[in-house]
Amino acid sequence: MFRAYPIGRLCGIRLDVHASWFPIYALIAATIANAEPVRVLGWIDAYAVGAVAALVLFASVVVHELAHALTARRFGVQTSSISLFLFGGVATLEAEPPGPLADALVALAGPAMSAAIALAAYGAMLAVDPVVPVRYADSAAAILAYVTFANAVLATFNLIPAYPMDGGRVLRALLWRLRGDRDRATATAALVGIAFGLSFAAAGVVAVVATRTWQFAWYVVVAGFLVRTSWVQYRALRRPPVLVSVRPSRPSASEVVSVGARTADRWSV
Ligand SMILES: [Zn+2]
Repeated sequence: MFRAYPIGRLCGIRLDVHASWFPIYALIAATIANAEPVRVLGWIDAYAVGAVAALVLFASVVVHELAHALTARRFGVQTSSISLFLFGGVATLEAEPPGPLADALVALAGPAMSAAIALAAYGAMLAVDPVVPVRYADSAAAILAYVTFANAVLATFNLIPAYPMDGGRVLRALLWRLRGDRDRATATAALVGIAFGLSFAAAGVVAVVATRTWQFAWYVVVAGFLVRTSWVQYRALRRPPVLVSVRPSRPSASEVVSVGARTADRWSV
């Protein structure tokens, strides 16, 4: 339905931008520009802050995916692409990690990287005053505050143990280690992901009705994406073989998905 545009290579991995990314980038940039502490900078500066902060946010999502990809490479698994799309970023691995420990480490590398970026941005924010010229100090501080907040949310939200998020993959790795069966572990983690997604959707509906704030409808959209991804994974593993000689359809590649910070809180600086 949408096209993906290759925009370059990072450490030998193709970087794609999906057409669905452009509207979400514009929406995030505009939302940051209109947030209370940014709006006071005046509309030109506010939109400049919004545009830069949203770009830095997606750059940090790419670095998060790169952390997954380079950890996977360490275990002999290559990554065919890293893509930005409507719901954040995704690294498409060419194979599953070779064992539960590798699986858990590949999954944990992303949130660990986001937490490190949040700490670095927070440190940079504290150092803005003596370094950045006064004219740009407020804008720089606003961008760094946003990048700190967004990466902290990215690290935390992705650790929720619900597939397809990173925490769900850690849960899968744990079950794989305990039961010794990767597919059964994946199916269970996918079921937990479906249950979480449905609860998240219900919470979104309640929030829309209770507060009459339509932004919460986005939670329902994200929940729909989580449920669909988990369901596709679950069904692929549970589908019985059609013929004895034909193996059941199995996902051939492993996708490590990062859901954007927008899912966990309203955009604010
Ligand atoms: Zn991730």
